Order: sequence, then structure tokens, then C-alpha cells
Amino acid sequence: DGVAYTEVRRPCRVMILVNPHSGRGQALQLFTGHVQGMLTEASVPYTLVITEHQNHARELVRKADLSQWDALVIMSGDGLLFEVINGLMDREDWQEAIQTPLGILPGGSGNALAASVHHYSQSPPAWNEELLLSCGFILCKGLVGSLDLVSIHLASQQRLFSFLSLAWGFVADVDIESEKYRHVGAIRFLMGTLVRLASLRVYQGRLAYLPVMEAPKLPKGSIKATHPPSTPQHPLLCSSLPCRLIPNSSPNQNSRHNHNSTNSNHNTITNSSNNAITTKRPETQSDGKTIALVDSLLPGLDQPVPESWTVVKEEDFVLVLAIYQSHLAEDLWTVPGAMADDGLIHLFYVTAGISRPALLRLFLAMEKGAHLACGCPHLVYEKVKALRLEPTSPQGVITVDGEMVEYGPVQAQIHPGLARLICG
Ligand code: ADP
Ligand code: MG
Repeated sequence: DGVAYTEVRRPCRVMILVNPHSGRGQALQLFTGHVQGMLTEASVPYTLVITEHQNHARELVRKADLSQWDALVIMSGDGLLFEVINGLMDREDWQEAIQTPLGILPGGSGNALAASVHHYSQSPPAWNEELLLSCGFILCKGLVGSLDLVSIHLASQQRLFSFLSLAWGFVADVDIESEKYRHVGAIRFLMGTLVRLASLRVYQGRLAYLPVMEAPKLPKGSIKATHPPSTPQHPLLCSSLPCRLIPNSSPNQNSRHNHNSTNSNHNTITNSSNNAITTKRPETQSDGKTIALVDSLLPGLDQPVPESWTVVKEEDFVLVLAIYQSHLAEDLWTVPGAMADDGLIHLFYVTAGISRPALLRLFLAMEKGAHLACGCPHLVYEKVKALRLEPTSPQGVITVDGEMVEYGPVQAQIHPGLARLICG
């Protein structure tokens, strides 16, 4: 109609962080062999950053000018993403920084998030190079959804942000002990499981949690409000679209982008003692600085848990595992119904007395997500919002996202949709 207009566009910029030592030490070769060509074909410009030491990525992300980047992508195992998320949350502008879309390419030996992202895309199971290709394809599509984070407090007052798991007992021991088999790749967990089974032990401690209240049953004939599966919203990397489709918005503003996701009320916290709903949003001070993210469900670690919490009566465990993605490893489909932004901590524990064959059966069944159907009386599964674990065994291992953390009392709460993930 005669109006000439120019579009101001710039290519999307993706920072890809590679840990050259992850997995079998082949992350860089896997990247050049399988992903590079795909990104070139899809016209996704990227900058490769090869990490030089542990915490390199965390320091880099803490100081980076994030206006230069449309996404941060990790080509490693889950450990490197854990660094990146904590680097983002270390920042003064964490509220905005944590909105940077995050992507994952499986390059490590523990690729739980990559396996989960692949699973959320409703594709049939895939491993190794096939999983990498799938995640490369997902990255090229560039759809962004919400990602829950869990805030974790340790006895030393240290606070961590976790996207995958908090583990104690059998699972944590296998995770750390199997690091020495890293050169065999993802199968290290199976090897570690067999070795640990031979020296199965019991772990003493106290466990308490804040359960999720089941939605009230609807009367017959009423129409059920369906939560659509969390459809990723934003074509991030599509070269025909302007790139920052998501302006630098605060999480509050961002909630309108989430209208189609399962937790559009993701800043709403239910006070389970009186059913009152209180909306707690990150607040901004008058000078524009954001204040710290409050864990409103958690009392101090030295305080008793609130009355609304459930205290587990058993104190002898074989494992405690809090997980908030579908997969714990490429071949461990731990939470059949989990989604990246379901707002839930899926809490599993196995009490003492389980036999070695029964425990092995659970892990073998987990490959197909069938462990809950085993009818094992020692396995308990609860959906929770917060939990506290107080080990009383003098020694042990606790892991967060597969990384060993300080051993001792620990508590955690979910922050639904705090981060953003390239998936689907
Ligand atoms: P994997 O799945 O093989 O364990 P991860 O991504 O979990 O791979 O990385 C393993 C550990 O290596 C993590 O603790 C991570 O922080 C650390 N790391 C990251 N980059 C480097 C590096 N360049 N050198 C040594 N360790 C690193
Ligand atoms: Mg790891």
C-alpha cells in the first residue's frame, strides 16, 4: 500500500558453554560433529565458550553483559547448568538475569535435564548421539517455556538454586562414587548402582515436608478446567522474527506471557494451614534494586517445622530423593508425570528393610517409568512444595543437581517458573 518500512533486526545471539572434560571428555568433538552444522543450517549465530576450570562458567555468567545474549546454552552434563543458574542468581539484577532463556545439549555423563527436555517434547526415548540430535533440534526451534527452580538452604547458611534434584543416601552415593567411571559415559550410574547394592547401607535422619493439597473433587457434570500441557511460548531463535521477543521484563510482568502454561499463578503461595492465598511477589525497592528472593515457606533451619508439615515417622532410610524433572539420568525416568514447570517437588524415599533384589528391581523398572507400579512397600512418593532433611548418621553425601554439597541439615522450597528453558 505504498508504505515502505524497514525492519530493524539483528541475529539472535546464543552463548554456548562447553565443558571439555564432561562425560568422556568429548563434549567439544560431539558439538562440532553433531550440532555445529545444525545451527549453521538453521542460521543460529552462536559464540562458543570453553570452560577452563570448575566455576569458570559461574563467574563468567555472574559478570556477563546479558543484554548481549538471547540465550545461554550448556553443552555438558547437569553440573555446568547448575553453575550457570547459580551465577545468574548471584547477580544483583538476578530477577532479570534469571529470565535469560537456558538451553541444554547433552555432553556429560549425567544428562538428566537433556533427557527430560527430550521427553517433554513427546518424542520416543533416545540416548547418546540421538539424544544430542534431538536437543540440537529443540535448540534450533527455540521455543521457550518456564522452568521451576528450588531454593536450597544448607546448615552453613549457604543458599543454592537447583533445577533437578536433591539427593541423600543411595542415589547421592551412586552419583558421587560413579564419577570415577565417568569415561564410560551415562552407563556409569548403572555400574555405580551395582557396586553400591553390594554394600547397601541404611542412613539415619529425619524427613519432613509440606504436602501439596489435592485439588477438590468437582461435582459430576461440571466441566473440568484443563491445564494445557506447558506449551513453550516464544520462538526465540527463528531467524525470520525479531529476536528479543521477550522484552527485559520482570517476573511480575512476565506472568502475562505465561497465560497458557500450567502455573499462570506461579507467584501465588498457598498457606496450607488456613487455606488463605497470599500473593508474594519479588519486591523492588524504591532505588530500583531488587531485594532478595524470600523463601516464604521455610522457617529457620534451627526452628521446628510448621504444623502444616508432615513429619515422616521412619528415621531409617535407604534413600531420599527430591526431583523436579522427569528424568534423573538418560535411562532413569523417575517421575512419569513431571513437567519443567509443574510447580512441584516430587519427593521419593525408600525406607530401610528393602532387600537388594527389590531395590535393584526398582531401578531397573525406572528405565520405563514403571517403579511406582512395582508395589514396593518401602517406596513412598509424595508431591510437595517444601521439605527438610536432617541426617543423623555422622557421615554421608548430599547432592544437589548431581553435585556434592555440604553434609548436614538441609531444607528446600519450590519457586515455580522462576527461570526459562528452551524446550519442546
Ligand atoms: P558430567 O555429567 O560428566 O559430570 P558436568 O557438566 O556435570 O558433567 O561437569 C562435571 C563437573 O565439572 C561439574 O562440577 C562442573 O562444574 C565442572 N567443570 C565445568 N567446567 C570444567 C572444566 N573446564 N574443568 C574441570 N571441571 C569443570
Ligand atoms: Mg555432573
